Amino acid sequence: MNSHKTEGIAGLLAQFGYELCDDINGADVVIFNTCAVREKAEQKVYGKLGELLQRKRKSRFLLGVGGCMAQVQKEKLLRRYPEIDFLFGTTDINKLPLLISRCNGQAADKKDRVSISQPCRIEDLPYRRRSNFQAMVTITEGCSHFCSFCIVPYAKGLMRSRSPKEIIDEVTEITTQGYKEVLLLGQNVDAYGRDNPEYGDFAGLLSQVSKVPIPRIRFISSHPRDMTISVLEEMASAANICEHLHLPCQSGSDRILTAMNRMYTRAQFLALITNAREIIPRLNITTDLIVGYPTESEDDFSLTLSLLEEARFGSVFVAKYSPRPGTMSANLPDDVPTEVKEERLQKVLRRQRQIAREEKEKLLAQEAAVLVEGMNRQEGTLFGRMRDYRTVLFPGDESLIGEIITVVIEESSTGSLKGRTLQPLKTPERRGKKGSRCEERGSR
Ligand code: SF4
Repeated sequence: MNSHKTEGIAGLLAQFGYELCDDINGADVVIFNTCAVREKAEQKVYGKLGELLQRKRKSRFLLGVGGCMAQVQKEKLLRRYPEIDFLFGTTDINKLPLLISRCNGQAADKKDRVSISQPCRIEDLPYRRRSNFQAMVTITEGCSHFCSFCIVPYAKGLMRSRSPKEIIDEVTEITTQGYKEVLLLGQNVDAYGRDNPEYGDFAGLLSQVSKVPIPRIRFISSHPRDMTISVLEEMASAANICEHLHLPCQSGSDRILTAMNRMYTRAQFLALITNAREIIPRLNITTDLIVGYPTESEDDFSLTLSLLEEARFGSVFVAKYSPRPGTMSANLPDDVPTEVKEERLQKVLRRQRQIAREEKEKLLAQEAAVLVEGMNRQEGTLFGRMRDYRTVLFPGDESLIGEIITVVIEESSTGSLKGRTLQPLKTPERRGKKGSRCEERGSR
């Protein structure tokens, strides 16, 4: 979501005459749009700020910090780096031109260079999209769930939904501009509309979006507690909704899930993904896991490992637990030693790599519709994503970037799949359902 907000910052400042530059050393204004969800991301920002401040003592440029870290650590940032010129919160991007002009005017009091509001709305921003074939569209912001380890409700506020009209208008506009794929964004998209019943629910929104003739629709992220059968059925019936579900589980142990305030059990999670696979053929389910949550024992961790066996995820994003100041779990002793967390993380990665490879082998010799995303310079091949979000490498010409083509899968490894394009080039067969005019689903 931050990367989409950054597109909003770029678009807004472009309206005020600023241009993006490739080299930070040539910038008049440097802005960090930060994330505070993980300690690692935060440390990276502090490291970068430290490097930059050395240069700031010698050359003149404005330095601003925004996003989650500014929202929840304003005092710490200003105390540690008084050289920061301006700070803005998670819903204060529209204030940026004013903050920058105040800094340029030199006269402003430091407090006039800080804008941190209580997050309670969704900013309307003139997004300057980095891709001309894949677009992100925000549908909700914030989250009302308060998982014990998570800073999001504090940094981004309670969940707010955008109106279906605004969403459909934006998806229609990008479709008219020739975009091939839209990613509907929210911290917890399945809870869409719960803050405003007039908006309907997520299944209803998906149904409306799927009638826009954009070839591919994805969404992220979902919460297992809020996922409904209606959403799964909508995914199955609309031809342009891709067969990928990112469903963060976080742990395989019920004891830890309860401590995390996740509000589902391992059995409920497994039943949900079994249902999802029955409803949506060829569904690829991916997940997030945390290892080393306070009090996580070897028995708890072995339940996370066995969850991998049972769930057969396509891929897993695993993180070592780190306490986030201000969250509920930050009050608990961080009692799993760092080396144990690292060992558990490596065990998850090792086992998951094998599982992912076994799952990918099932795709060998199949034809897949692939949206070509770019050139892998190292491999000298193109790369793209299948509808189920798996990456494929294949030889081809750069002119194919942004197109949806058919690729035959020939090789599976622990990394990406490898394949070849059909000659002459074949675009996936069109087979819309429910009146959707779109490509692909019939091609595999
Ligand atoms: Fe954070 Fe996701 Fe839990 Fe919301 S549902 S509090 S965003 S982990």
